Amino acid sequence: MAYYEDLSPYGYFTETIPPGISASCVGWLHPAHDHPTADPDGAFADRLFALTRDHRSAVTSSWHGCLLCPRRLFGTGGRPYPVKVSRHGEEILVGHGELRLRSAAPGTWLIAPDLVVHYVTAHRYAPPAAFVEAVMAGRVVAHSL
Ligand SMILES: [Zn+2]
Repeated sequence: MAYYEDLSPYGYFTETIPPGISASCVGWLHPAHDHPTADPDGAFADRLFALTRDHRSAVTSSWHGCLLCPRRLFGTGGRPYPVKVSRHGEEILVGHGELRLRSAAPGTWLIAPDLVVHYVTAHRYAPPAAFVEAVMAGRVVAHSL
């Protein structure tokens, strides 16, 4: 999957961004680039899991695996695929869509791959404060792909 620095301009499905909206990337991680880490906050992880489960957008027919997971010694791709995220006994598959949120700044979206919930829970990824705030506020973008 493509790497984008946190809060850099979003440039993937640009035709899905309405005029006047400024969209920024969050959580487009790649093993060639370090990412900020922290022990994930439980409430944040719960909320992120629920939003990813219920409000995924820009869903694609293909699946992305996690390049941060260590390769296994067997199999063809070498890594778990598709990626499963479990929370309180519930399980979702991620790697084929996005989570789009409205930040506190008017006209600004934050767009993360749905893998972000795996990055937070499995790889201790610490997303930008604006993303954490938008997740906790539950400000999902209502209408997109
Ligand atoms: Zn992983």
